[in-house]
Amino acid sequence: MGHSYSPMIYELLGLPGYALFPMEEAALPAFLKSGDLGGLNVTIPYKKTLLPYCDTLSAEAERLGNVNTLLFGPDGKIHGHNTDYAGFVYMMDRAGLCVKGRKVLILGSGGAAQTARLACLDAEAREVVIISRSGENHYGNLHRHRDAQLIINATPVGMSPNEDAAPLSLQGFYALEGVADLIYNPLRTRLMLEAETLGLPVVGGLAMLAEQGRQAARLYLNRDIPPEETLRVGYTLQHQMENIALVGMPGSGKTSVGRELARRTGRSFVDMDELITEKTGRNAARWILEEGEPAFRDKESELLQETLRGRGLVVATGGGGVLRKINRQALRQTSRVYWLERPIELLPTEGRPLSVNLEALYTARRPYYTKAAHHVIDARGSIEEVADAIAAEFEATIRAQWAR
Ligand code: NAP
Repeated sequence: MGHSYSPMIYELLGLPGYALFPMEEAALPAFLKSGDLGGLNVTIPYKKTLLPYCDTLSAEAERLGNVNTLLFGPDGKIHGHNTDYAGFVYMMDRAGLCVKGRKVLILGSGGAAQTARLACLDAEAREVVIISRSGENHYGNLHRHRDAQLIINATPVGMSPNEDAAPLSLQGFYALEGVADLIYNPLRTRLMLEAETLGLPVVGGLAMLAEQGRQAARLYLNRDIPPEETLRVGYTLQHQMENIALVGMPGSGKTSVGRELARRTGRSFVDMDELITEKTGRNAARWILEEGEPAFRDKESELLQETLRGRGLVVATGGGGVLRKINRQALRQTSRVYWLERPIELLPTEGRPLSVNLEALYTARRPYYTKAAHHVIDARGSIEEVADAIAAEFEATIRAQWAR
């Protein structure tokens, strides 16, 4: 269960006052008997450890051999449930990933992988293969499974702050129909981006997180919570997590539009050029003149990746912020990316050492803006008009993602 997202999820579902208790194993027995608890969510490593403390188990918890939700009865009895199972089924359904008759590869052999395995077998998968670093099927003999139709990542590989990692490459899986990744931070893992590039249906862990939250809240409140609530939770979480990133030529208005967007959306604003100046005591132009462009790009890349780990920000990138693949990847993993497109004759050049030949600069950078951006914005209008267009597109996109 996502430590930091849980309070927000339960508050949205009508359960305020959710608190987090980081705890050593030795303290658990006394904690469970404290009598102050109505319910408890459990995260790794306690999903199995707590099984013996349960007086009853739900069918899923019993079959899986682990619990993630505990209910405390008035008689002091502890009832163990597993809502990951329902969350996983929901996630696959949302993406339209059909398990029946398919060969499924599940990466990892931990609790989430076992949940996914059982759910896939229940959904009549043709074959389910667990890929484990130490198992019979591992990352060194993937050639045995090139006919896999679905790949599910149930490892933490690719999770923030290691967003550049992926458990495997999708190259060579000729029968692939879709990819699911249980990770929800970043919103889109590197594995998911690769699947997107291949034109495959893909889903991330946010849908699972939202649905298992609804299932747990239903148990805690002992009443039905309509399925639409999962959509509301997913929408709200994504809205709060996803950054809005602006890319485009130097002088295309990223800073002023970004500031305006932040003002009207109540988000924090980060201007990468200003951040670099603040952190290093030199502005971009001076860096480039004094040390050359590569040294500046190294610093820019480091600070951009760090910044994008924040949530719900508006980020104005430097004009060349999209040049490196790792930067474009970090942008697309964490943010909805807007390319502010403005004719070059309207771009200012003063104080911008790389803007001496704008036409050549634009020709060189255009492919990178295209690759980085989710959406192109006509930036010839006023600051307010451009900010309006971005805010409207952002809202419509997230709403559409959680509309059904
Ligand atoms: P876990 O019990 O720690 O298992 C993770 C498994 O991943 C391990 O058993 C291991 O399998 C594999 N693994 C770990 N480090 C690895 C590495 N460096 N390289 C390759 N494989 C590695 O964790 P879990 O509870 O199953 O959770 C797994 C993932 O699912 C986490 O990212 C978690 O956040 C996510 N999750 C999401 C939701 C949701 O609601 N979206 C719910 C539950 C879990 P082998 O040793 O066999 O290779």
